[in-house]
Amino acid sequence: TPTSRIDKLLSSMGYGSRSEMARLAKAGGITLDGTELADVSARIALAPDLPARMRIDGEPLDPLQGLVILLNKPLGMTCSHKEDGPLVHDLLPKRWRRRDPAISTIGRLDKQTSGLLLLTDDGDLLHRVISPRRHVAKTYRARLARPLTGTEGALFASGTLMLEGEEKPLAPAALQVLSETEALLTVTEGRYHQVRRMFAAAGNHVEALHRERLGGLALPDDLAAGQWRLMRPDEIALIF
Ligand code: URA
Repeated sequence: TPTSRIDKLLSSMGYGSRSEMARLAKAGGITLDGTELADVSARIALAPDLPARMRIDGEPLDPLQGLVILLNKPLGMTCSHKEDGPLVHDLLPKRWRRRDPAISTIGRLDKQTSGLLLLTDDGDLLHRVISPRRHVAKTYRARLARPLTGTEGALFASGTLMLEGEEKPLAPAALQVLSETEALLTVTEGRYHQVRRMFAAAGNHVEALHRERLGGLALPDDLAAGQWRLMRPDEIALIF
């Protein structure tokens, strides 16, 4: 098990500076197994049970580094500072904005797309999920402005569909028609506004878009829009 100085650990989790952690400890605000910790320069094992054993101002320690968050992204929030509007990061505890490494979204959803979004501070995991070589499947539920004609499935599956302004055809994608104006579309790439542009190329228009699955991981029914929870390692393994 790796170890860390306690002040350095807490500081990297956004609790404050190392000197602030020393002062907090002196005031009795840091406990381990119910006993006050005086020396924050001591090293501590970064064991999975540490957050349950350590309390900061009476509250259990935040999750250690290496976290993965499953979020049901609501409409109207953005994944990037480059767009206007509230960030999905604003749904997480304020202190988490100061974590090192920083928490990033794994890929992006448009401001007007809802559904399954992962966030992590684990750069290796992030790259594994978004790497084009891995072809992680993403399934979207699309509500359409016009009835499907019946030709879209073959077009999307062909591997020859070209989006405007691009040089390379899209990889084959699978369409599952749910009703005249609703379908599930599974893609393995992540091009800009990909699903909206695919239906536009088929002469239709996406009115609502929601991501339901990433690889073998489905958005749980009991996670309402705007809600999130930490993922367990066995759930993370479902992605690949
Ligand atoms: N395709 C889109 O058009 N938008 C998204 O947010 C995701 C996939």
